[in-house]
Amino acid sequence: MKLTAPKGTRDILPSEIGKWHFVEKQFMEVCSLFGYDEIRIPTFESTEVFSRGVGDDTDVVQKEMYTFDDKGGRSISLRPEGTAGIARSFIENGMGSMPFPIKLCYNITAFRYENVQKGRYREFHQLGAEAFGSAGPRVDAELISMISLFFRRLGIYDSMLRINSIGCPECRKKYNDSLKGFLLERYEGLCKVCRDRYEANPLRVLDCKDERCKTVTAEAPLLSDSLCNDCADHFVGLQEALSDLDIDYEIDKRIVRGLDYYTRTVFEFISENVGTQGTICGGGRYDGLIDQFGGGCVPGIGFALGVERLLMEMDSRGLVPGENEKVSLYIASIGDETVALAHRLCFDLRKNGIAAETDLTGRSFRAALKYAGKAGFTHLMIIGKDETDSGVVKLKSLKDASEKDYDLTDLVERLKEEFYG
Ligand code: ATP
Ligand code: MG
Repeated sequence: MKLTAPKGTRDILPSEIGKWHFVEKQFMEVCSLFGYDEIRIPTFESTEVFSRGVGDDTDVVQKEMYTFDDKGGRSISLRPEGTAGIARSFIENGMGSMPFPIKLCYNITAFRYENVQKGRYREFHQLGAEAFGSAGPRVDAELISMISLFFRRLGIYDSMLRINSIGCPECRKKYNDSLKGFLLERYEGLCKVCRDRYEANPLRVLDCKDERCKTVTAEAPLLSDSLCNDCADHFVGLQEALSDLDIDYEIDKRIVRGLDYYTRTVFEFISENVGTQGTICGGGRYDGLIDQFGGGCVPGIGFALGVERLLMEMDSRGLVPGENEKVSLYIASIGDETVALAHRLCFDLRKNGIAAETDLTGRSFRAALKYAGKAGFTHLMIIGKDETDSGVVKLKSLKDASEKDYDLTDLVERLKEEFYG
């Protein structure tokens, strides 16, 4: 039987890994400029973390989670996102009593049982960040400006940012009544899941991907039109703070976000280049989440960015960073006498941070030269009796065929200086 990767998963091959490393490195650097420290959380959690955190009525929990009982009979779920696990960790590790704000960033795989399409997988990667302990709109703007700076570092300068406010539970209570009135008149037009959701969590109907529901809700009343005074002020404050930082945005009153924990600020970075999916990055404020987990009233805001979709966006813009800029050297030895020397040189080079290889498969000298040309090395060095006698070796660039001589005695130091000095 032919073995294949499970549907919705992908291998990231060595030919692509440069882009991933580049993006991840830029992200972590930008996070660190903004004072965000990396956190690593488990790949799976008790199912309750997500049902309580993300919300029982969400698509993610109802339809998309990989849930199973482990051998001890505990209900476990693979993380469909990062925030709920981080909130759990925040409380468990007593971060609530550390000086605020607590700023955390992460790089994770996430798992959702979804209909697989372009830009939509069952295992995917998210880069994200969370800021706990500040309720004001300035931290929202700061978080958004961090994403914007990250995009700029990748070569994306135009704004894809859409913002909205979905208010607090008080605004929502009022709004739910008017939304329910609207939906009741159109109840027959809703998909089955949304009919079930209608009573408990009508807001989720606005986030449904079913075309019937999208048509029904096109004219629905908007939450952002019924904000209480405090939430309305917060939203104005966010817009002012974004303008202070010269961050362009559009207000999109239809953004509600797919997870239950959001309050007030919600935002997305949207592009047509990532298939029908559109959203590269989504986030928002979750002032009730920590409290919901029993950790007291700690406001928070965060976002997650889909790396696969970001790379699609970069591809469609012709941005190909992280192409193997690294020097990698191939040492071909002529005859058996220099095999050991070649291997030793490789080790010396590697100890000094220069990637180097020599033959390990018993290739002839000619075959080794051919291999070096094909395998993507940047430089070739040949070592035979002539070279050991004279103490001088030639290094040939496999990119432009230029050649240069080096003394064997200080070869490693000189290469290190030239390549990485
Ligand atoms: P969508 O509306 O496309 O389903 P979402 O609202 O479910 O997205 P979030 O939960 O906000 O997505 O996750 C943040 C980001 O993670 C998304 O903007 C997207 O880039 C990425 N993402 C989410 N689900 C997937 C998936 N199944 N495959 C690849 N990337 C994904
Ligand atoms: Mg989704």
